[in-house]
Amino acid sequence: MKFIYSPHYYADIGIHVFPIQKYHLVATALRQQHHIPAEAFVEPVAATTEQLLAVHTQRYLDELYQCQWTPRTAYSELPLTREIVDMFVLACGGTILAAKLALQEGAAMHIGGGFHHAFAEKAEGFCYLNDLAVAVRVMQQAPTSINSKKSAGQIQKAMVIDCDLHQGNGTAKIFEQDPTVFTFSIHQQELYPVKEKSDWDIHLPNAVSDAAYLQHLQAHIPKILDEFHPELILYQAGADPYEHDQLGDLRLTISGLAERDRLIFGWAQERNIPIAATLGGGYAYDTNDTVKIHTNTGIAAWEKWRNI
Ligand SMILES: [Zn+2]
Repeated sequence: MKFIYSPHYYADIGIHVFPIQKYHLVATALRQQHHIPAEAFVEPVAATTEQLLAVHTQRYLDELYQCQWTPRTAYSELPLTREIVDMFVLACGGTILAAKLALQEGAAMHIGGGFHHAFAEKAEGFCYLNDLAVAVRVMQQAPTSINSKKSAGQIQKAMVIDCDLHQGNGTAKIFEQDPTVFTFSIHQQELYPVKEKSDWDIHLPNAVSDAAYLQHLQAHIPKILDEFHPELILYQAGADPYEHDQLGDLRLTISGLAERDRLIFGWAQERNIPIAATLGGGYAYDTNDTVKIHTNTGIAAWEKWRNI
């Protein structure tokens, strides 16, 4: 399996709760502490405008490219510079590549992405472009390959499993009327954002800990996979359900979050459903904890797919 990462996953966002250095730190930890070989890392190319238009509107993209504050871009809680916009376009390319490689190899992990608050026509939170939705749409539109065994071919049905602290509201809204994409989100109820309707939402009360959280996953995800039969899973592995996160009030431990990852990867692998994982939020008081949680997601995937 491959890890998708770019050294260009960095932009000046000023003093901010979003630890933008985490991309570099996770990639470095996987390489240096966990000895994942350089050959396992691939660099994405930026998504094309045509690919972004599979989800986003032309007017919104024009405003982003021109860095204009408008009623659509103004929902962002990040600055709006060309460097930042370019990073989001590249991250969309990264999740597209992760999805393609997952279809070829069973799994892939994007050390980036997971920007689930972006809507088709507007930004929200720390998200300008919804890489998860773009990757699903691009995979659905990919030409059917004659040589389908080793090529990323067309898929019809996909599932987004969103385990971020916050609801995947942008993703839910984008696919709201689309029976080919099942959106699942488990998140803290009493928290940003204004909720949209996913195909399956689990609204958690405050202070939920490991055992209860994992029980929710066990009670629902295998059943949904068996009934919906997705041909691809996009897994948003947010690090912010963590007990020491600055933005939330869930109480998962680092080992509980690692167990979450192992369960989800295991359910995909048992059913031979390709899975592309992305990062997501993560605002621990100690950024090292956020990096550890994301790194553990990578290790969980590597342990299952390294020899395939
Ligand atoms: Zn979040």
